[in-house]
Amino acid sequence: MKMAELNLNAIVVQKHELTPRLMILRIVANAWQLPDFCPGQFAVLGLPGAAQRYMLSEPEMPPADPHKLIRRAYSIASSSLTREYMDFYVGLVTSGALTPRLFNLDIGDRLWLSPKIAGLFTLDDVPEGKNVVLIAGQATLAGCRTCGASASWRTRGAFGPRRTTRTYSCAAIPL
Ligand SMILES: Cc1cc2nc3c(=O)[nH]c(=O)nc-3n(C[C@H](O)[C@H](O)[C@H](O)COP(=O)(O)OP(=O)(O)OC[C@H]3O[C@@H](n4cnc5c(N)ncnc54)[C@H](O)[C@@H]3O)c2cc1C
Repeated sequence: MKMAELNLNAIVVQKHELTPRLMILRIVANAWQLPDFCPGQFAVLGLPGAAQRYMLSEPEMPPADPHKLIRRAYSIASSSLTREYMDFYVGLVTSGALTPRLFNLDIGDRLWLSPKIAGLFTLDDVPEGKNVVLIAGQATLAGCRTCGASASWRTRGAFGPRRTTRTYSCAAIPL
């Protein structure tokens, strides 16, 4: 696939570097509607091999195909009640294919975001009114953050997404 044919359908609107190896990327869809999701689910982000690697990453051997989209799964870290953007916690793997390219993105840069959301790591089976403590470190804080940020959230019912009245207390402990 040629670069021009790769549909880089999303735009970085915020980049928050928590440490040199952990960042939060805020992404908006470029002229399409972000899909519904449940806290705990993930999307897929992608960049072409032609995208520049971050200066703190290792050189790539052999170099990636510049025309091919490199895709990886990332847990959605923003509230499921927010439809305007999605946040992702990304940990840098210096020898990796995608994260060095994600770390090199700046505000306004484009990337690929899967229109389809997936994942079964949700709290649908937690009984009403129960407290939930989620313990995570580094990039896995993403799942905790989205649960905490969604005081009530959407679940998939027989007739599509609906909002529940359940509330959850979540504690994320940075390890
Ligand atoms: C459902 C799901 C959700 C995920 N959510 C997140 C998320 O929210 N945030 C996030 O940062 N990542 C998340 N990941 C991991 C992510 O998909 C990538 O695997 C990761 O970012 C590395 O991608 P890469 O292309 O840079 O490295 P790759 O090119 O895939 O890997 C290069 C080498 O590094 C190793 N490696 C891969 N990941 C790590 C790591 N974390 N530490 C050390 N070595 C590693 C690989 O085994 C391989 O040897 C998730 C994965 C899944 C399956």
